[in-house]
Amino acid sequence: MTFSAALDVLLSGAPPCADALAALIACGDTDAPSLYAAADQVRVATVGNEVHLRGLLEFSNTCRRNCDYCGLRRDNARVERYRLTPDEIIATACEAEKLGFPSLVMQSGEDLWFTGPRLAEIIRAIKGKTSLAITLSVGERDEADYRLWREAGADRYLLRIETTDPELFRRIHPDDDLEGRKACLLTLKRLGYQLGSGVMVGLPGQTPAALARDVLWLLDLGAEMLGVGPFIPHPETPLADAAGGTFDQALRLVAVLRLAFPYAHIPATTAMASLDPLGREKALQAGANVVMPAVTPTDRRALYALYPGKICLDDNARKCRGCIEARIRAIGRSVATGPGHVIRR
Ligand code: SAH
Ligand code: SF4
Repeated sequence: MTFSAALDVLLSGAPPCADALAALIACGDTDAPSLYAAADQVRVATVGNEVHLRGLLEFSNTCRRNCDYCGLRRDNARVERYRLTPDEIIATACEAEKLGFPSLVMQSGEDLWFTGPRLAEIIRAIKGKTSLAITLSVGERDEADYRLWREAGADRYLLRIETTDPELFRRIHPDDDLEGRKACLLTLKRLGYQLGSGVMVGLPGQTPAALARDVLWLLDLGAEMLGVGPFIPHPETPLADAAGGTFDQALRLVAVLRLAFPYAHIPATTAMASLDPLGREKALQAGANVVMPAVTPTDRRALYALYPGKICLDDNARKCRGCIEARIRAIGRSVATGPGHVIRR
């Protein structure tokens, strides 16, 4: 399918087809500006000019899993592991609210020290002391844990599917199972979480057609927040020598997702900013409407190395908050003050 025919399909309001999605995802440098402009126009018309800030608190880099792409994988013995105490987590959350973050993303490796009840208690404490909207991103857990956290007040959950290609998923997840991860997402949805998912771009052997199938699957799932980033090979992992994804590949997918999910919350991700100093601005001008600056204590930031080259490792939450607001204003956008819940129509 030609680029312009594919763009017409996406802009027609009809359900997108795999061919059109793949044609846009694979578009060349000549067509890309039209794709970004179309996504930007849809973004203005749907979610508007406000950019939602979520403070990202990376509270533990301890992980039971061995994902082949990730620097925090269990078998990477060269990472110094850390785990914030419940009091540190609660204090950091309170500080994030004071700095003007209406919403907090609590992310970690799959760290079972944080049992269901333990994490629920932390969530309850934060909800008691602040009016932060809370997003969890702590991987695959039992339904009982997801339920406890929801009952404790967690509003949202982020769990990327990474890829829906069964063969590729198996190849990069030695101890995980695609059907299991899909089941987690369905459980989270049933429990009433605002649901975030997404993929990495540039995984070994991943094709535009496979990414198009991912988009269709995310539509089927009813994902309401969509995080995508380039895969950045980490030297201490089995995929150290892989080519990885490029900024441009990720940016095309951001734009395609905005066309396919007009009302979703789509972040300009840290991985994109790590490959291009203006990565967040470019993503915000190609469909994205969310940024997630770290509020992680400075002395732990370098240890949360999912991939190499992560930005802002020497900064603190106050500096990141100020920096990102200036960047948002510089491109003529405003910072949202509300919690930025998903839009359900
Ligand atoms: N343990 C949780 C949350 C932390 S990982 C989980 O896995 O869901 C958060 C995200 O980081 C993952 O979903 C993955 O998409 C991304 N990530 C991990 N390693 C990466 C790499 N090498 N390059 C780019 N993104 C990576
Ligand atoms: Fe652990 Fe998440 Fe990294 Fe997988 S991607 S190793 S689950 S932190």
